[in-house]
Amino acid sequence: MEKRKVIIVGSGPAGYTAALYSSRANLNPLVIEGHEPGGQLTTTTDVENFPGFPEGIMGPELMANMKKQAARFGTEYLQTHVSKVDLSKRPFKVICENGSEFTAETLILSTGASAKYLGLPNEMELIGKGVSACATCDGFFFRDKVVHVVGGGDTAMEEALFLTKFASQVYVIHRRDSLRASMPMQERAMANEKIEFVWNTEVEEILFDDTGVTGIKVKNNQTGESSERKTDGFFLGIGHTPNTAFLEGQIKTDESGYIIPANPPHPDTNVEGVFACGDVQDHYYRQAISAAGSGCMAAIRAERFLEENPL
Ligand code: NDP
Repeated sequence: MEKRKVIIVGSGPAGYTAALYSSRANLNPLVIEGHEPGGQLTTTTDVENFPGFPEGIMGPELMANMKKQAARFGTEYLQTHVSKVDLSKRPFKVICENGSEFTAETLILSTGASAKYLGLPNEMELIGKGVSACATCDGFFFRDKVVHVVGGGDTAMEEALFLTKFASQVYVIHRRDSLRASMPMQERAMANEKIEFVWNTEVEEILFDDTGVTGIKVKNNQTGESSERKTDGFFLGIGHTPNTAFLEGQIKTDESGYIIPANPPHPDTNVEGVFACGDVQDHYYRQAISAAGSGCMAAIRAERFLEENPL
């Protein structure tokens, strides 16, 4: 079993930034990247809100740069999933899907959260061509356009409200006739003139041509009636799933599965020597730059923890 001082699980902006800092601290970190190195940003196109890129940068390029930057200082990468961890004592055990096994004196969890999609035909292929699960990332591209948001929780309200800054009209499609969102968010969305609600309605199909999304086919689940609606953008706001199942309850999470920091604002978890950063512990900001910042914090905490708690 290979011994490591720092293992970073997950490879979005949080994981790569943690790797950059740990490798520059001579800790020779191993990043277990998962099957989609780079995480959620690899599914976006232009990133215009990551500071330092006045003309913007493509999501996959930004992630490739971060990876390369951390590699320069000795970070090693492994493209597999972690299937099991044993956090009962240090060093922790990390077992991967490809059969490799490690011990880690500290563990940094940056497995992110995956946006939920509806599972419609062509939904994934149309990401970046009108389909998006991130209004903050992509809203800007819908200036004076018509967009639809699906969902009835806080995420959907937040996406709809953000989109009103750009779009000429925002429709919220919800499968019931009442919202799950918190009252202040509901009130803000209801009061916004650009937002219109389409109740008791489910999306059946995304319509598109060579230019991207052109409309959606929806069904009213009360009347059974199907209809087509024109739209330029289709935003998913049906929540995210934090990638914490492999922890099997060893790290404290809330009821949705997000890791609860043990000593905020520090990235410590309930297990000493295990730190969390990025979207896996943040359902509020969810930005590449905030994830990167928290990755830096996790790496610095891990470095100091190793100094104070040598094995
Ligand atoms: P929620 O689980 O609260 O809401 C998901 C919404 O999507 C629900 O309205 C649900 O419908 C709908 N939905 C789920 N699956 C489907 C589907 N297959 N088809 C159609 N509709 C579907 O998730 P959120 O991401 O909105 O919120 C998660 C947590 O994060 C909450 O605690 C929320 O308060 C918090 N949050 C807070 C924010 C803030 O404070 N600014 C911003 C965003 C999130 P139904 O209601 O019928 O189940």
